[in-house]
Amino acid sequence: MDINSPVASLRGVGQGYQLKLEKLGIRTIRDLFFHLPFRYDDFSRIYLIKNLIPKENATIQGKVLDIQARRSWKKGISIVSAIIEDDSGAIRAIWFNQPFVATSLIKGSRIILSGKIALSKEGIYISNPAYEEIGRKNLHTGRLIPIYPETQGVTSKRLSWLIKSNLKLLENLPEGKILEEIHFPLNPEAALKAKEKIYFNELLVFYLYILGQKKNFKTNSSPALTPNPNLIAKFIKTLGFNLTPAQSKATKEILNDLQKIQPMHRLLEGEVGSGKTVVAAISALASVLSGFPALLMAPTSILAQQHYQKFKKFFPKGRISFLTGKEKILPPQTQFFIGTQALLHARLPKMGLVIIDEQHRFGIRQRAKLSGSHLLSMTATPIPRTLALTIYSDLDISILDELPQGRKKIITKVIKPRDRNLIYSFISRQIKKDRQLFVICPLVEESLKLQSKAVLKEYEKLKTVFPKTKIDYVHGKLKEKLNIIKKFRNKKIDILVSTSLIEVGIDIPNASLMIIEGAERFGLAQLHQMRGRIGRGKHQSYCYLFADSNSSSTRKRLKAIANCSDGFKLAEADLKIRGPGQFMGLKQSGLPDVSMEALTNLKLAKKARAKARQVFPKLNKYPDIKKRLEQFERQVHWE
Ligand code: ADP
Ligand code: MG
Repeated sequence: MDINSPVASLRGVGQGYQLKLEKLGIRTIRDLFFHLPFRYDDFSRIYLIKNLIPKENATIQGKVLDIQARRSWKKGISIVSAIIEDDSGAIRAIWFNQPFVATSLIKGSRIILSGKIALSKEGIYISNPAYEEIGRKNLHTGRLIPIYPETQGVTSKRLSWLIKSNLKLLENLPEGKILEEIHFPLNPEAALKAKEKIYFNELLVFYLYILGQKKNFKTNSSPALTPNPNLIAKFIKTLGFNLTPAQSKATKEILNDLQKIQPMHRLLEGEVGSGKTVVAAISALASVLSGFPALLMAPTSILAQQHYQKFKKFFPKGRISFLTGKEKILPPQTQFFIGTQALLHARLPKMGLVIIDEQHRFGIRQRAKLSGSHLLSMTATPIPRTLALTIYSDLDISILDELPQGRKKIITKVIKPRDRNLIYSFISRQIKKDRQLFVICPLVEESLKLQSKAVLKEYEKLKTVFPKTKIDYVHGKLKEKLNIIKKFRNKKIDILVSTSLIEVGIDIPNASLMIIEGAERFGLAQLHQMRGRIGRGKHQSYCYLFADSNSSSTRKRLKAIANCSDGFKLAEADLKIRGPGQFMGLKQSGLPDVSMEALTNLKLAKKARAKARQVFPKLNKYPDIKKRLEQFERQVHWE
């Protein structure tokens, strides 16, 4: 067993727990050690009981005097209470719903306790404290207690126990000492310092990786694309609307890059509905007019098909091929190739331009596969600029920061369960006026099967709620999903029940209504993306959020989305609330969590980038870094 062994090889990690850890991205023992606390509860100072202050965290030590266990019938919970005494006084300790405490506490023993000081009618007490015998090396009390990103069934307490009991494995790792300091620091300053050291190393390796990619990419040359500007202008005239200033600017930047033989490597980042597809079409046309085919790749077949149909409208005489997997043979002389990842496996002629839509859904490694052409990546994920600059430091960026004129703001509301019927009758009236509705079912992370079941159930329910409307449903596993989307697009369906499958890219301007069930299970940015499916046409759009939970954090998050329609602001909020690891599909980017967390530290990122540039040309002189880089490459390419 070594640091790269699966985490399940550790004692105490069974199959169930292993699966839970995997949700946190912890697969190997190394991952476990690199699962860093995001804050610490400070229990390092030991207080005298007489000095305790209500509402604060504190650590005390003393003798256990009296232990009582009872059930509160009113509240239906078990209560264990004990009196703890030190030289200065005595205090009650109370454990709610932890009946086992009654049997593990020993009367007369001396213990150390850490917990929150609370106040009741009968005076102050220490609430649900962690406790240990005095004299053992303390893990849960009397120190800085690490708080980790958690998931259901994986508590910080258990994580820190697991890490502590396996510290020996860190001995052979160059950064072992630093990691130990992060998990079990002596003081907050030491923790921060240690964390920055680790982040710096991670960032250094990340930038070295990017530099390597860039070098590979730039050694290729791509065709200079110099289309006749009149033909481009003529095409833009056929669109039936004027480009927004942001679209014009982005188009200019792209056409300018395409004229060079140095491959373009540009990210087109734009708010949902800002009109990236048109920019893509103009760019693709530039390639075709210069005699080279263009390729447009999308993450789902539904989206690919939508692009295909749009391009057929944009270029009625264009020769366009569509490829999602089954098709092996492509018609010759194709000008526009449109499809899913399947394109990566097809035999293709040399492209002038490759466009990747919703590129954050593809790994960074897939970008690498398409070298030798100009590359335009598009994302509707409004990545905060700071983060974009560090993550995509190898790309140039164009931003569409405005929506086409005349869009009405989507009215978003969080709906209380008792008002559900009101909403249904409003929707009913809207449907009579020919509007269409998306109903998004809650996220079921555990399995696709459960998720499709939920969709079916909702569909059955809505059939009785809206008996006279045409309802259908779609989910990822459904074979005829392309067909159903097509029917919805052609207004053969009024209500479409769906999973979050329709989250990205779908553009059906007549759909102006959306219900999101179990809204609290989605991230803010994801909700924003889904909501972006409506509000694309001339009608006033409405988005209704239903939540299964009514916790204060749920209310806060849903309020944020209801009150804010700015994707960039929401993205920043999401980043704060959920942390970069969970940040809007960035997980798929293949970056380890630690690197992503580190990337949000701009100052450090800059320092690491400078160092990477300095190290890169003479990497052989730094065997440790080189080894770590190879490991990183394996990690990124592993998914
Ligand atoms: P996204 O940036 O989310 O990919 P799309 O490219 O799907 O957005 O465009 C959203 C909708 O806006 C489409 O129906 C498109 O035809 C329309 N659109 C794009 N640009 C403009 C514009 N300049 N004026 C009016 N409508 C536009
Ligand atoms: Mg799009």
